[in-house]
Amino acid sequence: MIRQTQCDVIIIGGGSAAFESAVSAKESGADRVVMLEKAPESEYGGNARYSHTGFRFCHSGKEEIRAFLPDLDPALFEAMEIPPYTHEQFLADLMRVTQGLIDPDLANALVKRSNESVHWMLKMGIKWTHEKYLTQNGRHFFEPGRVIQPQGGGLGQLQQWRAIAQNMGIEISFDSSVSMIHGNARHVDGVRVSTPDEDYDLFAPSLITCAGGFQASPEMRARYLGENADLMKVRGSKHNTGEVLQMFLALGAKAAGHWQGAHASPIDAAAPNFETPVHADGRGNTMNRYDYCHGITVNALAQRFYDEGEAFHSYTYAKTGHAVRKQPGGIAFQLYDKKGIAKFRHGPDYEATFEEANTIEELAGKIGLNPELLAHTIASFNASVMEDVPYQPSKLDGRGTRGLQPPKSNWARKLDEAPYRAYPVRGGITFSFGGLGVNEKAQVLNTANRPIRGLYASGDIMGLFFHNYPSCTGQTRNIVFSLQAGREAAHLSN
Ligand SMILES: Cc1cc2nc3c(=O)[nH]c(=O)nc-3n(C[C@H](O)[C@H](O)[C@H](O)COP(=O)(O)OP(=O)(O)OC[C@H]3O[C@@H](n4cnc5c(N)ncnc54)[C@H](O)[C@@H]3O)c2cc1C
Repeated sequence: MIRQTQCDVIIIGGGSAAFESAVSAKESGADRVVMLEKAPESEYGGNARYSHTGFRFCHSGKEEIRAFLPDLDPALFEAMEIPPYTHEQFLADLMRVTQGLIDPDLANALVKRSNESVHWMLKMGIKWTHEKYLTQNGRHFFEPGRVIQPQGGGLGQLQQWRAIAQNMGIEISFDSSVSMIHGNARHVDGVRVSTPDEDYDLFAPSLITCAGGFQASPEMRARYLGENADLMKVRGSKHNTGEVLQMFLALGAKAAGHWQGAHASPIDAAAPNFETPVHADGRGNTMNRYDYCHGITVNALAQRFYDEGEAFHSYTYAKTGHAVRKQPGGIAFQLYDKKGIAKFRHGPDYEATFEEANTIEELAGKIGLNPELLAHTIASFNASVMEDVPYQPSKLDGRGTRGLQPPKSNWARKLDEAPYRAYPVRGGITFSFGGLGVNEKAQVLNTANRPIRGLYASGDIMGLFFHNYPSCTGQTRNIVFSLQAGREAAHLSN
């Protein structure tokens, strides 16, 4: 006989969306809130553990941001340029990069509630620091909308949430995998939990699923994302294997978002298959290869295949991993000359896997490409660079290529100064875009578009994005929908 037990709100998952949902439900009056985390305690936390967790949100500018950074040295703060990031800007960014396919109601809810939700985190006790900035003439510039991140990065955020949750009396069960849902397409009221020692049933009037995407399942990647997707490197948690998503779809939940799409960025080809190491100081992933705008990228046939200078990194990195994985063998090579190397985000000595040579032909030999083909690709690229347009790396300078397909639209400079370097990269998957259909209240819908009573969702398990993603929107989506889901779930339980 299976043991049965009861609580007020069940949270599936132990990542950032799960903690936020649990704290919100508890704050809104739910009595017994139980989080079920599949991972052991030493690996809890889902994707945030492998990230710096920057937050993109609407704000009115420098004065408002000061409240998040009360201890920052006044001279440093004075030198920061922090213009407002408006609703219109955030919405336009979302609409543009998703090619107009994001659900407009959900996009509006995300944008409108982003400010109050991040302020709620501050109120609940999350401590913040500033994001990376670019310094020019003594002034510090941020990418629009991205100014702050929790202290200690993603792991710091999780540790802060865990302390808050524990103080509030929220229960967390590790090694507790949800293996079955009790309910149907009209309502849910519990789950079967599998631990290393037993299976038991946990019932509650409401359930918030924050079980992440399916990106860590090579089988689901191959099934939904297409060629070479099973060869991708998983940047985050190995526990996000999609079984909870599949259980809800089997129950009759609606599918939403881009099922052939995912957040995927270029990553060092030598990265581990799962869980890329992070910087100790909370700056996030150590093996990202985001400097592609300072050079060109070629595939194993020595051909370019995407516009390396289309827009700023924030608006291109999350789709560039797909461009790489679609190439023969799922591999590509980022190529730079001395000028490009000098522009790297982390400095020229950044630790990464690369080959270096004094001629293009020698470099081609070192990375196994045909030297004549690579020399031809680079000669064609160099001949097309608009030398008459000034190079200005801090803005979209329009210094592109003429008569080249695919073009490089900005920051094009000839590769003509030795040494030359080649960085082998693969597609690094962050999270899948296909997920559960939800409404603005974070209620999960069924295939008849009606809310499934008692079921809410937040985080990567929601189907929301299409094609691409403006950097640092995942964490904002988590807090917006978790705050809402927690309030709704507590209300249903009371
Ligand atoms: C390297 C990297 C860098 C990133 N950088 C940023 C950034 O700077 N800003 C930003 O906004 N976003 C960033 N992201 C994306 C962001 O971290 C994720 O979108 C976000 O963490 C998703 O949160 P989540 O809680 O929905 O899922 P996750 O954090 O993945 O959590 C899912 C949880 O569900 C658990 N689970 C899975 N299956 C089961 C089951 N059967 N039973 C019980 N539990 C289960 C998992 O163990 C895990 O705890 C980054 C991601 C990565 C990997």
